[in-house]
Amino acid sequence: MLITDRVVWENLMHSFRQEGVRLAVISDFDYTLTAFTHEDGRRVYSSVGCVREMEETTLRYRREAAALYEQFIHFDIDPLLSFEERAEKMHEWWSRHYQLMFSEGISQDLLFRAGSEAGFFRLREGARDLMHFCAQADIPFITLSAGLGEVIRGFYTKEDLYHMTDIVSNFFLYDEVGRSFDISAPIMHNYNKHTTKRLLDAPRLANLRPTHCLVLGDSVGDSKMAHMFPDAMVLRIGILGDHQAHMLPEYQTYFDAILFGNGSLRPVQEILLDARAPMNSSLSFHAPAQVHLPAETEKNRA
Ligand SMILES: [Mg+2]
Repeated sequence: MLITDRVVWENLMHSFRQEGVRLAVISDFDYTLTAFTHEDGRRVYSSVGCVREMEETTLRYRREAAALYEQFIHFDIDPLLSFEERAEKMHEWWSRHYQLMFSEGISQDLLFRAGSEAGFFRLREGARDLMHFCAQADIPFITLSAGLGEVIRGFYTKEDLYHMTDIVSNFFLYDEVGRSFDISAPIMHNYNKHTTKRLLDAPRLANLRPTHCLVLGDSVGDSKMAHMFPDAMVLRIGILGDHQAHMLPEYQTYFDAILFGNGSLRPVQEILLDARAPMNSSLSFHAPAQVHLPAETEKNRA
């Protein structure tokens, strides 16, 4: 794990270790709780992308959804575009894609099975332990995703993790035979999900206004996920894919620490353990000396 600024980090950890802290974890789903790739190197699909791979979807849907992906994906990862410019493009992409899904009558059952049956996802190493740790330590763990809530629900159900977290995401409205025809408004995408008031309705946060939030995500927009708790101290952990190595300088402006590629979430659990019981922590973050940079990233830094 790469610490962006050790002084800032020490100050954050000092605050997180205080007595009386009300802690919450707000985590992205796609490529954060899931890995970027399967063990054999195949790309892991996103909660939206996996729907395209279901056998029941039509060729028309797959072609048009893939065309939208090709049209818009580069806006998502272009460091030359402002946050606002990217937000505008993502809204256009998400809106057009959902209209396409409605025109296909994508069903609730299909979405659930895309998450539960198809094997499109790979849980990131350490994710299960992190969620169990939070449940045991009574730390609310919220999944805040601009993907598809029904697909995520299917995956968590399959993995026996559904009871470990609240899912704040895009959920469709369905007609009497279970076909989607609309979506909960406003549409959440990568660059506006931090503004969703739905986060405040998450059952695990109903009786707890956190004083400290740990946010975890792979998109720069994820760094803002504690936005609805403006008084909270926020520790931001970003995950940088190997294909995004060129974005490291930008990630260092958005995140307090960075994990790489398919790296384990074990360090996140250790940060929480340190915050809750610093005497019991097996790994000290007072001097986070272990800095691992993939070769490509080292090259970019040089
Ligand atoms: Mg993500």
